[in-house]
Amino acid sequence: MSGSPVWHPFTQHALEPAMKRIVRTEDAYLIDEDGTRILDAISSWWVITHGHRHPAIMEAIRRAAESYDQVIFAEYTHAPAEELARGLIEIAPAGLEHVFYSDSGSTAVEVALKMALGYFHNIGAPRSRVSVMEHSYHGDTIGTMSVGERGVFNAAYEPFLFAVDRLPFPEAGREQQTLDAFEAFCASGQVAALIVEPLILGAGGMKIYPAVVLAELKRIAERHGTLLIADEVMTGWGRTGTLFACEQAGIAPDILCTSKGLTGGALPLAATLCTAEIFDAHLSTDRCRTFFHSSSYTANPIACAAAVANLAVWKAEPVGGRIESLAAKHRHHLQRFGADPRFANVRQTGTIAALDLCVPAEGYLSEVGPRLRAFFRERRLLIRPLGNVIYLMPPYCVADADLDRAYEAIDAAAAAFSGGRL
Ligand code: PMP
Repeated sequence: MSGSPVWHPFTQHALEPAMKRIVRTEDAYLIDEDGTRILDAISSWWVITHGHRHPAIMEAIRRAAESYDQVIFAEYTHAPAEELARGLIEIAPAGLEHVFYSDSGSTAVEVALKMALGYFHNIGAPRSRVSVMEHSYHGDTIGTMSVGERGVFNAAYEPFLFAVDRLPFPEAGREQQTLDAFEAFCASGQVAALIVEPLILGAGGMKIYPAVVLAELKRIAERHGTLLIADEVMTGWGRTGTLFACEQAGIAPDILCTSKGLTGGALPLAATLCTAEIFDAHLSTDRCRTFFHSSSYTANPIACAAAVANLAVWKAEPVGGRIESLAAKHRHHLQRFGADPRFANVRQTGTIAALDLCVPAEGYLSEVGPRLRAFFRERRLLIRPLGNVIYLMPPYCVADADLDRAYEAIDAAAAAFSGGRL
């Protein structure tokens, strides 16, 4: 290693080659210290929606920085947070009327879980269970790991994770098993919430399931008074073709988590939206019913201003058109891989495309992931496969020629690595 004191996330420093420094970002590119332009084909962990350094968002940040730094968010409020909350409620699924700010996707989910449990506690009918979907990922804190898939990533912390009810993933043809399992868990009367990634499970392998399953899960939840938490941290802001993925199921969750694309990717910010019913359960002259959650940087005004600017970009620019066009281009490229025996499960939802490379060594921690990463890095592409699952989730401004290049590289990777060469 370089001797740097920096400890990077999800990085095995004993195996990772020396890292190049990024000195600039621009549109769909990261530019390194040698001036190499790297195509950011995964939007820097899925946060960059319109493109790096969108001028309107950067300008809003500059302007906000002339008036604010961090401002305590209890006792006092500020215009960017107020304006953003109103804007979010306007565009979110119906019935979400309050906005709680935090700083990352994980904290948005932690807040959602605490809101759900707090709701039942405060109405005097506490519930003790949470249902989750197999293969889900909701973050890396102890609470979010508890509701996510268990495995090598959280083996060290296993004794400290709380127990949850796991629904089988709704594989094609076996959707009813998922619904039946949820119905059975709900029958206990103890399920406070079901937390789901709507339409597509991201870090768990870009696994797609039909919107109708989500609609049915919501119907079952409603029947049992169980709250539905939609973790739209990845799926929000157009990734699945609609602003929020829930729209495609025609449902409104009781709680919705958003982060990543909330500021267009420019600054860290998250929001957990909830219904008036949940907020009202915390509204009381009894101080014990307060929602006891905060983080120091809650609702940073500059980040909120960036998010307000992002909302304006969605209104002023043809973002929907760009999303449709990117989705169409993925469809076109994926056609060529559909019948290719080197790939399985060629799939897409909106702007996210994924293919499983057929290699003998599957699994997230097999050598295939790092070797594919290196292969793409040599070709000036930031693509980080999840094990053998290769996916593309570029910013919406990605140029046709760049997308072509990414798919060419995937083809070349298949030629290099499939058929037992790993
Ligand atoms: N939920 C989902 C669905 C995610 O994809 C992620 C991040 N990949 C998170 C939660 C956690 O977000 P963060 O990394 O910002 O904590």
